[in-house]
Amino acid sequence: MKKAFLLILISGFCLCTFAQTTNLSIPNGGKTWASIYQQRAAEYKALCFQAYNIAKLRLDIALKQHHTKPYAVVTDIDETLLDNSPYDAQRAVSNLDYDPKTWKEWTAKSICDTVPGAAAFFKYAAKRGVTVFYITNRDEDERAGTLKNLQLYGLPNTDNAHLLLKQKSSSKESRRAAVLKTHQIILLCGDNLADFDALYDNHPDEDNRTATTQKLMKQFGSRYIIVPNPSYDDWEGALFNYGKLSNAQKDSVIKSKLKTASQ
Ligand SMILES: [Mg+2]
Repeated sequence: MKKAFLLILISGFCLCTFAQTTNLSIPNGGKTWASIYQQRAAEYKALCFQAYNIAKLRLDIALKQHHTKPYAVVTDIDETLLDNSPYDAQRAVSNLDYDPKTWKEWTAKSICDTVPGAAAFFKYAAKRGVTVFYITNRDEDERAGTLKNLQLYGLPNTDNAHLLLKQKSSSKESRRAAVLKTHQIILLCGDNLADFDALYDNHPDEDNRTATTQKLMKQFGSRYIIVPNPSYDDWEGALFNYGKLSNAQKDSVIKSKLKTASQ
């Protein structure tokens, strides 16, 4: 009797799980795939190593040059230095969008792993006398949890003065300008194009972002160090014209924009 009950329970669970996964929106199915790539693919790891190896190369070149102001490296945090794929995956498999409340519950735990190669690079920069500034669009009420998470890995400059959180604007330009008052920024590290240049601020559409990237082409791998984030970022906002869309509407946009062999 007990066995039969257990069997029914397991079957029910499997059916629910199956129903849940088959009902995922296209973006959430994609985010599930993107998260498993981030967590499991050695290719993802290799791409991050590539980014931070280039960063080290650029830093070493800069250190040989004359400079009047002290050097700084500016970095974004999420998906550039800290890995939030467990949060993204949890939302995606439940067919749910990003939500600030659950996001903050996640960041308050201060348990994010690091992006491959990132911690070693920032520690190396500090060892060579370069100051690290963390410019992130996490909110002020995430400050303590964020510092705690960074300190977990012994990262340099993990104090209030070097952690520049979002205040009124999500644009990072004024915070970069604040750093420039005292330091020369030799590198910017990010996973989102707005981590690098104000040209990506104010919700530019996809064509505009592509044209700006073409214009700034030589900066990538030079002053701008970008790591991959196929899960989310402004590219996702631009895809949907920054609208608040239902899952069905998102699915429809993706179907209309996706190039397929039959077209
Ligand atoms: Mg980021």
